[in-house]
Amino acid sequence: MPELIDTHCHLNEESFDVDRADVVARAEAAGVVTMIVIGTTADTSRQAVEIAQQFRSVFAAVGIQPNYVAESKVGDWEAIEELAKQPKVVAIGETGLDRYWNDTPIDAQVESFQRHLALARRTGLPFVVHMRECEADMVTQLRLASQHGLLHGVMHSFTGGWDTAQACLELGMYISFAGMATYKKGANVLDVATKVPLDRLLVETDSPYLAPQPVRGRRNEPANVAYTAEWIAKARGLTLDELAAATTRNARELFRFEGATG
Ligand SMILES: [Zn+2]
Repeated sequence: MPELIDTHCHLNEESFDVDRADVVARAEAAGVVTMIVIGTTADTSRQAVEIAQQFRSVFAAVGIQPNYVAESKVGDWEAIEELAKQPKVVAIGETGLDRYWNDTPIDAQVESFQRHLALARRTGLPFVVHMRECEADMVTQLRLASQHGLLHGVMHSFTGGWDTAQACLELGMYISFAGMATYKKGANVLDVATKVPLDRLLVETDSPYLAPQPVRGRRNEPANVAYTAEWIAKARGLTLDELAAATTRNARELFRFEGATG
């Protein structure tokens, strides 16, 4: 059984409150050796760190997702800065830009995004990017940030075009794919997933969302990352073992789990 890493899951969500330990055990049994729980607010970032402290195979990312920036309270950002110093925190995020939901004005999103990128530089941690319907803005903001040097982060659950993927790759980014790549209407996503260089490719579940075929429609969980990996492997003419070896190596290189156990 190949070793896999789920680079993006939300085990901090309430829907996992009833059986979180079982979910982690099922993932481990399915070959998922490491999973990263992602924060979207100060509260869920704190929960991500707490969950990471409970399970050896779980690590955390801390940040305020763009759609939650407007509702964040005084002190939330300072909380993120403090959480970033905790053991088992391996990334800043998720951060990014989102023009699909209208929850946070774009100027405030941009400001928050750049603040997260500055924190990533200060801490030496990689960052996790959410991008929805804002490809041009995203490339602009990433290029701005790259004035400080090559970028060290991941475009998570990527659904953009190949042009945008190429721009991100040129700046140093990794590109990660979730269950969308297995959907019929995700043909363009799968197409990009076959083109990303093998040494920059990552996989994730984004659970509890985006369950891949053949478990689509159910609550997603980290064990299912194998389905997405297998789907992308097939599209690339690789075995699951080959794709898992590459994506797991890439995840270890980007997130440096060993140095994060404090
Ligand atoms: Zn997410």
